[in-house]
Amino acid sequence: MQEYVTAAVSLRKYPQGDSDGRYVLFTERFGKMAGRTKSSRKITSKLAPHLEPGTLLKVRFVEVHGTQIIDALKERNAGLPFTALDRLAMMLPDGQPEPELWRMVIEGRFSWHAALAVLGWDPEDAVCGACGIRPGAYFYISRQDFFCASCVRKLPSIMRQNAVISLHVPLQSERNMDEQGKSEFAPNGPIQDRSEDAGI
Ligand SMILES: [Zn+2]
Repeated sequence: MQEYVTAAVSLRKYPQGDSDGRYVLFTERFGKMAGRTKSSRKITSKLAPHLEPGTLLKVRFVEVHGTQIIDALKERNAGLPFTALDRLAMMLPDGQPEPELWRMVIEGRFSWHAALAVLGWDPEDAVCGACGIRPGAYFYISRQDFFCASCVRKLPSIMRQNAVISLHVPLQSERNMDEQGKSEFAPNGPIQDRSEDAGI
């Protein structure tokens, strides 16, 4: 049985009943992939701390009835805020290595501006895909397009909270928001209207 080994950052975990765990990983060799820990409570609990979202780790897996994670070893915290991990889990294509993005993450150079450019959505001079008028300071993952603050406001709050990347919030603020449990995408959160800045 062939085993695969790669470095990875854990992006998301899903509870799977009592004993299984299912994880979404951004791996160096295979890009984004999902894998389960074996259905053994003992193994799952042994591996779980190494697979917590935000962890940079070495992972070993096999392909048997889907992807089975058979070993995981934590190296360190990858230093990405939870909002960034979650959005990467949503937007990265399955099974497609992204070496430039990978280097950005492990060298601590990750920013949404650079990451979107690497993934093929250059935010430079992006215009809102909904109104076509104002600058697109937000990236709406579900539509794979840039939106302005006014158009983002019109989205259902569940989408604003979960599927929008703000290009003008530095990652450090996102980290602080992680700690304080705040986000500008909270239902009544302070999304700024940037159209005045742009002289519109
Ligand atoms: Zn707009």
